[in-house]
Amino acid sequence: MGWVKPLWCAAPCAAFVASDELYPFGSAHVLRLTTRSVAIAVKLRDVPSHAKIAACQHIAFIGRNAGIFPVRPLRGFINVPATHRMLNNHELTGRVRTHVKQYEEPTFAAQPEVAKAFLAMREKARRAGIDLIPYSSFRDFRTQLRIWNGKFSGKKPLYDMDGRVRDFASLSELDIIDCILNWSALPGGSRHQWGTEIDVIDGASVSPGYVPKLLPEEVSAGGVFEALHHWLDENIAEFGFFRPYASYNGGMYPEPWHLSFEAASTPALRQVTPELLTAVIRRADMLGKDVVLPLIPQIYERHILNINGPGTGQR
Ligand SMILES: [Zn+2]
Repeated sequence: MGWVKPLWCAAPCAAFVASDELYPFGSAHVLRLTTRSVAIAVKLRDVPSHAKIAACQHIAFIGRNAGIFPVRPLRGFINVPATHRMLNNHELTGRVRTHVKQYEEPTFAAQPEVAKAFLAMREKARRAGIDLIPYSSFRDFRTQLRIWNGKFSGKKPLYDMDGRVRDFASLSELDIIDCILNWSALPGGSRHQWGTEIDVIDGASVSPGYVPKLLPEEVSAGGVFEALHHWLDENIAEFGFFRPYASYNGGMYPEPWHLSFEAASTPALRQVTPELLTAVIRRADMLGKDVVLPLIPQIYERHILNINGPGTGQR
């Protein structure tokens, strides 16, 4: 691939803007130099290591996804492989599935590098007597929207932190939105749309026909998935996974079954912005949209950025 030039390129390309200092990427090309910032174009597949990303304050997309977006520091990175492919805005918000591949036995969809790591982890789990099943993996925007609308209209139940059903009739619209966001992501803002996240269960610990609830009671002492989670505590890091919702920090309730492949999800998180979410939701057929739109900046801070970073502890 040759160098891409601003405004002329048909495919999206990325430039990293780092105030005051130049961070030379492997195959970078300086586009613009001002007294306050340096813009650098990189080849489409050339993603800098986390140290360089962390030093940047803005990321600019040129071409189809034109715009300059802030880069926010995150806790606990590992290196992003140089071969990692960045998602475009449609992939990032689950409106297409060009970034994921469908797998059978077990059935799931994920980015190929995520699937490879997951299947290796599944093999190790099998030797420990665990049937590590992807209960939910890639979810597209429409599915996330269906979940949202189902909960907003009262057709699907809303739960408190302990998994007890809330009384829908007693809740205001704002309460409902709060309740939904404790367990479900804003359509467009779900990590499941990235193809990097997998909710897991142990098929060996339940009887045939058991319908997993993915609620705390299954994970806690005496729960059907207690042994699975002890095994996950010890093993997920070896395969590059972490638990972004390990504990409650005022955003999502704990979801220890939700595993994230760090090398692919960390760059994806950096690409999500309140502006992108606003643009996507404005066009969506979403219940409560008028109440949600002005809340997007705080939802972004509280529910999207506010995760348990990789390496910040287990459950
Ligand atoms: Zn999940």
